[in-house]
Amino acid sequence: MTYLDYAATVPMLEEVRKAMLEAEERFYANASALHTPGHLAMNEIEKSRRLLAELINAEPSEIIFTSGASESNNTVIHTFEGCQIETSPLEHHSIIEVAQRSAGDKLPKLYSYMLANNETGEFLKLPEVNREKFNNSPLFEMKNDWGKPLVTDKRKSYLHSDLTQVLGKIPIDVKKLGLDYATFSAHKIGGPIGVGALYVKKGVPFKPLIVGGNQENKRRGGTYNTVGIIGFGTALMRVLENKTWLKYDTEVRELRDMLAKRILEVIPGSSLNTDITRGASLPNILNASFKAAEGESIQLYLDAEGIIVSTGSACAAGDTKPSHVLMAKTGDAEIAHSSIRFSFGLDSTVRDVEKVMEVLPKIVIRLQQISTVE
Ligand code: PMP
Repeated sequence: MTYLDYAATVPMLEEVRKAMLEAEERFYANASALHTPGHLAMNEIEKSRRLLAELINAEPSEIIFTSGASESNNTVIHTFEGCQIETSPLEHHSIIEVAQRSAGDKLPKLYSYMLANNETGEFLKLPEVNREKFNNSPLFEMKNDWGKPLVTDKRKSYLHSDLTQVLGKIPIDVKKLGLDYATFSAHKIGGPIGVGALYVKKGVPFKPLIVGGNQENKRRGGTYNTVGIIGFGTALMRVLENKTWLKYDTEVRELRDMLAKRILEVIPGSSLNTDITRGASLPNILNASFKAAEGESIQLYLDAEGIIVSTGSACAAGDTKPSHVLMAKTGDAEIAHSSIRFSFGLDSTVRDVEKVMEVLPKIVIRLQQISTVE
């Protein structure tokens, strides 16, 4: 199988699987319990917390473990219920939908802007994201020195960023990014699905989404998912030890760029929805459109050939509406409907690119021939 859907989920790392199996046996106790097995479980959770804190330049006490990025995103928006909430139009649905329901007119105001988008991989560069609003937040100046921390207008506003796709791909420093809140998910770095984290800067507003327990310093109720958090910690260790962003920036980027070049050279009516210039996008995502060929059909034909890709975001699969991200970016429903996202991982190889190019041109041309689109 040629797996090119790493942005949807990264297959669990072998060492994560081993650590979790071992944890099932050794750290089964309720981590909140005062007995020895409880303490042992809690120690492991704190190790994972320290690893994430170290990786993003935060304090361990500023990290809350959650059930994933969706919960982390929902929690931040929930904190600002009734307040002004501004998000980019490119956010994940776990921001957009809850923001629509929760927004009001009170202050303080929350800004939620992802650093890089999950469908195109592009760093946000919306012209309407004006710099003054963020007091020149380096969030939008990726190509330069990441600059000074954001000083929001006398704390009348706070800044959240969904860094789910960014973790491990480029170095992250929440202080330099000027963030008050940041979202992460374990399964995008080879950890388990169903575990995530939220960075909450010391002293900023916070309202728990899940209440009914004192876990996570009263910030998130529910028995600790010790095994999952240990799995997340193991994946974080791999990121830290290997400085995975270095390989993404070189080998993975080369594969992505190679595929982009070959697609444009060989496939008629192809265009890129990802700006692959260095500094413009994450190195592992390529979104491309194929004129007069429907994305879902391409995906299914590729699947039949053992090549796994996605159309837009998997979370929206089954949704017949065109991707809100591509619509916001291009305003062109045809481009959005004919798009495919190829996403690479640390295990991807040149052979993967070759496999795609052996079958993709034929699939697209066949679909274009039977298309009714002019
Ligand atoms: N935000 C972004 C940017 C994502 O890519 C995803 C996963 N598609 C999520 C949030 C949701 O993550 P999780 O599966 O951990 O809830």
